[in-house]
Amino acid sequence: MTHQDILHWLTCEDDGELETLWRRADETRAASVGDEIYLRGLVEVSNYCCRLCTYCGLRADNSSLYRYRMDADEVVDCARQAVSFGYGTVVLQAGEDFHLSGEWFEDVISRIKSETPVAVTLSLGERKPAELERWKKAGADRYLLRFETSNRNLFDKIHPPRTPNEYSDRMDLLRTLSEIGYEVGSGVMIGIPGQTWADLANDILAFSGWDLDMVGVGPFIPHPATPLGNPSPSDFAAPTEQVPATELMTYKTLALTRLLCPTVNLPATTALATINPKQGRELALKRGANIIMPNITPLKYRTRYEIYPGKAAKNETAEETNGKVVGQVSRMGRTIGSGRGDSPHYRKNKVLNAHLKEL
Ligand code: SAH
Repeated sequence: MTHQDILHWLTCEDDGELETLWRRADETRAASVGDEIYLRGLVEVSNYCCRLCTYCGLRADNSSLYRYRMDADEVVDCARQAVSFGYGTVVLQAGEDFHLSGEWFEDVISRIKSETPVAVTLSLGERKPAELERWKKAGADRYLLRFETSNRNLFDKIHPPRTPNEYSDRMDLLRTLSEIGYEVGSGVMIGIPGQTWADLANDILAFSGWDLDMVGVGPFIPHPATPLGNPSPSDFAAPTEQVPATELMTYKTLALTRLLCPTVNLPATTALATINPKQGRELALKRGANIIMPNITPLKYRTRYEIYPGKAAKNETAEETNGKVVGQVSRMGRTIGSGRGDSPHYRKNKVLNAHLKEL
């Protein structure tokens, strides 16, 4: 599919034509990754963050956020609970919190891996390559780091470097993660002020160009305590160019990603479930997605991991969230996958690389 083809679909408003896109994405999903939906238990370990991303409610200068850090026992307990729900993966996500050291995570990862059978996915922002290596050795399996937008100017604007002398290079980190041997996931927000149709088409092409194992996409949701919560007119692209942060744009991006990257794992994200709590996940799973990440963060911390307002499931216990998700999947007549649910894309590449080494 060319840039032009992608632009055609992104701007298409013809319901009949879009039905063809949904059907093709769903058929490709079924043929490439099957009918199972895999569940990943999301644990929001800390909402401390040293960064000043203009889109995210965890940004360091948001003084209205009551900060927390889970302790190691609490994180390991969440992993045990994930096992009791039958999940094959836990995702440990946090703001960029260097108070949680490389060693601290190493200990938590080793404990989870020795006490449970789950795969461990990390989503901890831009950490040092030495730490990423250490965590892989401790047993971590996957890493999620969205590049947020492939437009470098826009990225610099919304994601300032840690210090003025540093350069935030998520593409470079993704390469490092892949070299270390992680199953690698990335993704973007849809409808960031300043994101054009051409940018989003480039993002989708980048997913396949970067040969990712997992792709996470969701609508941008403004947070009032951030600069992009009160954008100025100059933050936006020209009206004919600006991508809207809508549900429809998210489905289109999911469907196109499935067509371009048939074997990736593609979650129906929480941000989508937030803007359409009734149907967002279900429609995503019918238009290319094959993963759900139920939140299993202890209730007392959940409301405080406010990357954007109104986050789905923010007042539920892990049991309630699990019950709802399982119900949703069974109502759709789909089954929940058992086991770790590794990315078929990663498995295929691993076999291929091993084979190439033997030659
Ligand atoms: N500190 C980690 C985890 C951040 S939260 C990291 O930077 O990778 C995970 C994702 O939530 C981010 O990558 C971003 O794409 C998304 N996100 C953050 N703020 C958002 C907002 N206001 N609306 C929608 N998605 C948002």
